[in-house]
Formats: sequence, C-alpha cells, structure tokens
Amino acid sequence: MSRLALVLNSGSSSVKFQLVDPDRDATEPPYASGLVERIGEDNGTIVLKFDGEKIEDVEPIADHADGLDKAFALMDAHGCGPHSVDIAAVGHRVVHGGKLFSGPELIDDQIVEMIRDLIPLAPLHNPANIVGIEVARQLLPEVPHVAVFDTGFFHDMPPAAALYPLDAAVAAEHNIRRYGFHGTSHEYVSRQVPGLLGKPAAEVNQITLHLGNGCSAAAVRGGQAVDTSMGLTPLAGLMMGTRTGDIDPGIIFHLYRQGLSIDEIDDLCNRRSGLKGVSGVNDFRVLQERMDNADQDAWAAYQMYVHQLRRYIGSYMLILGRLDAIAFTAGVGENHVGIRRDSMAALENFGIRIDPERNAAPNDGPRFISTEDSAVKVLVVPTNEELAIARYAMAYAA
Ligand code: ADP
Repeated sequence: MSRLALVLNSGSSSVKFQLVDPDRDATEPPYASGLVERIGEDNGTIVLKFDGEKIEDVEPIADHADGLDKAFALMDAHGCGPHSVDIAAVGHRVVHGGKLFSGPELIDDQIVEMIRDLIPLAPLHNPANIVGIEVARQLLPEVPHVAVFDTGFFHDMPPAAALYPLDAAVAAEHNIRRYGFHGTSHEYVSRQVPGLLGKPAAEVNQITLHLGNGCSAAAVRGGQAVDTSMGLTPLAGLMMGTRTGDIDPGIIFHLYRQGLSIDEIDDLCNRRSGLKGVSGVNDFRVLQERMDNADQDAWAAYQMYVHQLRRYIGSYMLILGRLDAIAFTAGVGENHVGIRRDSMAALENFGIRIDPERNAAPNDGPRFISTEDSAVKVLVVPTNEELAIARYAMAYAA
C-alpha cells in the first residue's frame, strides 16, 4: 500500500480534500477525493469519491473541525480514512504568502502566526486556510503539515513587474505590490514544458495561461516567473468567469461617487462581472451553447475574453524578448478548442502556427497543438495543483 498525502483546500464554508499518491501518473485520478460543504448549516454535505463510487452524506456540520472529523469518519467507513490508509503528510493550499513565503513551508506555530499576519492581504481566504490547518493538525498530529502558497512562484519577480507606480511610502506601509496567484499551477505546468520541448529549463522562455473560473497568465524565463497578470488580489488581469480582470481603477471611484458602497462594488467586480456580467453565464460550456444559438451577448463576452488574452500574450512576448512556448491549462485552457484557436489566430508573423487537428484532439495529457514548423511551440498541459501540493508535502514525510 503506497503512502498517501492528504491535500486540503479550506474555504470559508467548505473544505476540498484529496488523498493523493504523489508517485502516481498525473493523468490518474486521486486515490480518494471529496468536499465538505455548507459548514455551519443544518444541511451540511460531505461528498466522498472513492473506488469508483460517489458517497454523499447530508447532516448538520457545526464547524470546520466537525466537518473534517465527519469526513474522516466517512472515509474510514469506506476504507480510505486516516485509520485505514497510510497518510504520511498533509499539504495545505494557502492563498496568500505575501512577501514572507517564496516556497512551501513545514508548518509549526510560528508559520501559522505568519500566515495570520497576512490576513489583511487576503481577508477572505487566509483565515479559512488557517482554520483548515489548525483543525487538521489536531486531527493528524503525528504527520508533517506543509503550507503551499498560491503566490510563492511569483515571490521573486523583478521589481519592475512586481511594484505598482503608487506613492512609495503608501505602497510600503500597506504592502501593496503584485503578488500573483495560481502559482502552484503555473509552476507545475511551466516545469513540464522544457522536457516536452527537449530543452534545458534554463533556456526556455514561455507563457503559461491558466484559464479556469479564475484566469491568469504568467511570463516565465528559464524557470523563473518574470511577470503575471493577477496582482495584489486575484481580481486583476484577464477577464474571468465572474471577475472583471483589468479595468480602469477610476471606474471604482466613479461608482462609489454614484452611490454604490464599497462592498457593492467589490461584489460587482468579483462576482457579477466577467463573462457572467456581460453574457449572464460564467460557465464556458453554457457560454458555448449560447454562442451556438447565436446569442449576441455570449459572443460579445467571448470576443472580449479573447481580446484580453491576446493583449497579455502580446505584452509577455515583448517582455520575454524571445518566446519558445505557450502552454494552455485549466478547465477552459485544456478543453476549449475555440479559445486556443482564436487567441492564437493570425500570429504567423510572430512564429505561431496552430495545427487545427492537433488543437481539436481530446484532452488526454500534455500535447503540442502547434504545427511542426511553428517557431513558437503551443501546448496543452493539464494542470494538477493537488498533485503538485501532495509532492511538496511528501518531501517532508519521515
Ligand atoms: P477552477 O478555476 O474553479 O479550478 P476549472 O479549472 O475547473 O476552474 O475551470 C472551470 C471552467 O472550465 C468552467 O468555465 C468550465 O465551463 C470550463 N470547462 C470545463 N470543462 C470544459 C469543456 N469540456 N469544454 C469547455 N469548457 C470547459
């Protein structure tokens, strides 16, 4: 029986979990996975996927501790809980590592306090991450717990990319800078590309495009991130499912002066904008159905999304100077043929040529979608943040 890593992603009212064999092939499903939802409510739900089965349990869940306890009990009842399998390490996804963390950290009380110090930068996410860490450390005290930060990969970006042109004293006082997010995914994907190209990592310049519900782009030179589209928060950059991405910050002042509250503007920009704001839907599959039915709003949203994507790809090409590869990943990037085709259209002058057949092939592992003679190689590289976190965590296992 292999040793497994438990990967936890704790939200304010939910905990996603996966039990992962870090040595397995990336295309294989996790050993077990699940979700504790509606924590604090009477109709709390625990979903467990194990051994080809989906088990669902609805009962009141008092808090995160209760939720994780019940999830472990359900897992044990089906032979995959902490008493049934060998959990050798726990990896925790932590959203904000600020300037404090450039890579995964073995968690002790001091690390928890440092993550707590970063709460002002991620007021919704870090508190939930800390609760998950504290509960899991109590339930599984014997194994190492490792924090893996969404921002870590971008920690060492050059100042020209990382700093905002604000008053320097204000920026310093409030820790305002570009931190970037989805770092685990950009790192996981960008590390695979040199091998696929058959080149040493130090020689590869690439753009990674993480297109899921949240979307971000990164420019990576020789394995080091040199720019990324998300900023102080995950609201910046590309147009997303429900988030604006880049807008004129003056829009916020304007709306405020028109009488919207800051919380209303926050909700507008984070949850009621992006594809959803323009077309009414944020799921790309539904958007595609609407486009197929000639829905003009769906087409407008799609074209804006593609335009934003091309804007970032173009600017990162110049920042990198020489580009070897562009890698698409996450739900939309891995699955949506049209987005890849349209964001890469008419770029032959820049050495980018997509092969339509390769582009339309099913998503079953890393693959090229550019033509043989394309100077810049274009790839689909499925992301797997949980596997990446599991591998980081297992490195600390006894
Ligand atoms: P998250 O950011 O929540 O991890 P994902 O990476 O799972 O998100 O991406 C979710 C997005 O991917 C959704 O917009 C969904 O519609 C889209 N998506 C998933 N599968 C497909 C598919 N087969 N074709 C087109 N879009 C897809």
